[in-house]
Amino acid sequence: MNSEKHTFPTYAHPEVEFVRGQGVRLFDSNDQEYLDLTGGIAVNSLGHAHPHLVAALKDQADKLWHTANIFSIKGQEKLASRLCDNSFASKVFFTNSGAEALECSIKTARRYHYSRGDTKRVNILTFEGAFHGRTLATIAAGGQAKYLEGFGPKTQGFISLPFGDHDALKAAIDDETAAILIEPIQGEGGIRSVPYQCLRGLRELCDANGILLIYDEVQTGIGRTGKLFAHEWAGANGEAAPDILASAKGLGGGFPVGACLGTEAVAEAMIVGTHGTTFGGNPLAMAVANAVLDIVLEEGFLESVCQKSIIMRQHLAEIVDRFPDLVEGVRGNGLLLGLKARVPNTDIIGAFRNHRVLAVSAGDNVVRFAPPLNITDDELRLAHEKMIAALEDMNQKA
Ligand SMILES: *Cc1c(COP(=O)(O)O)cnc(C)c1O
Repeated sequence: MNSEKHTFPTYAHPEVEFVRGQGVRLFDSNDQEYLDLTGGIAVNSLGHAHPHLVAALKDQADKLWHTANIFSIKGQEKLASRLCDNSFASKVFFTNSGAEALECSIKTARRYHYSRGDTKRVNILTFEGAFHGRTLATIAAGGQAKYLEGFGPKTQGFISLPFGDHDALKAAIDDETAAILIEPIQGEGGIRSVPYQCLRGLRELCDANGILLIYDEVQTGIGRTGKLFAHEWAGANGEAAPDILASAKGLGGGFPVGACLGTEAVAEAMIVGTHGTTFGGNPLAMAVANAVLDIVLEEGFLESVCQKSIIMRQHLAEIVDRFPDLVEGVRGNGLLLGLKARVPNTDIIGAFRNHRVLAVSAGDNVVRFAPPLNITDDELRLAHEKMIAALEDMNQKA
């Protein structure tokens, strides 16, 4: 907005400003109501101002905000044990953001090989269209020219491979390879899913070559796809389990927090002094993230996400049927869904916004949806009606 005179001009904001939220609803400065199917880009996993999260934050705010990691922080052990009990992992390191969770993942992978005397293994294999954050290492990991341009020498040790090219992947593995890093569903890259058999194949390939598998589940984790982590769909018995996993976004439901999860074997390499953070795992973040898990791990919650997903997919499929000139297909899993557009995705997002529904763009000309995981069937229906009205508007103007 043109009222922003003192912030870096890094974002191209639309002319709307939100001042409060309630569940799936956001209210702008004129008290106009919007349905938020963006969820702060898969962050507001339980909608805005969820009473259980608000209470947890307020309660912790009265007790203790910060001690730094020179002292042990009670909520960390609780949150870590719950993440481990419900995933492949045995140990967790807490961060403030997704990019930092990736930085920790990359450092852990390299340090694992280093600690075993395999000091040559530093390279991380990544895939075209990936997005892993905006730090210098994670833009190198993402490999996208548009994010690297103008920021000096690219951080070494990242090799970007074509998406879905098995032969190129096998050929790229050598005695300097430390790990494969992949998003089970590329979020930023356009809601592109990696087939389950490929995830299992990656696990086998890593085992056969003594290298580590890292999942970036910053966007796909914490119930977003109807499992705690998306890769679980590829095998209930750990057939596609990683060695390291980066989480963030939905973990805090809107409070900044990230996590690097690892097996016992990789975490062992991260001995005292090898890594650290001032804010990561802060008591406020731990209180809120534990409150998020109270709900996401409740009996039946993940199943309910799958039910909502079926409804929303049906709605989106109907949109594809009715507006074939505007959209051509539905992508994604759970409540991380995309509409592949035939016209510029930003036109569709703008039309939705005019009808007070919020969606966000993704790569490959996709309109991305990441609504709250607890959105109701009625709210989904209402959003669907508004989206249809928006697309009818577009057709009339064309
Ligand atoms: C958002 C995102 C990141 C970066 O997270 P930040 O909190 O913005 O640093 C990394 N990987 C994926 C898959 C993401 O969606």
